[in-house]
Amino acid sequence: MSKEKKQGKGHRNCKRCGTHRAIIRSYNIGLCRRCFREVAEELGFRKFS
Ligand SMILES: [Zn+2]
Repeated sequence: MSKEKKQGKGHRNCKRCGTHRAIIRSYNIGLCRRCFREVAEELGFRKFS
């Protein structure tokens, strides 16, 4: 078992694609902007395009 799946507090990576480029912290969802858009569409959010 590696330590990849355990994420500490200070390390924010996208849960979905693993990037750390544009993580959205405002919603505490742990997703990058790109994945957030995709997930948001699934969830019904459409005001963040
Ligand atoms: Zn992502």
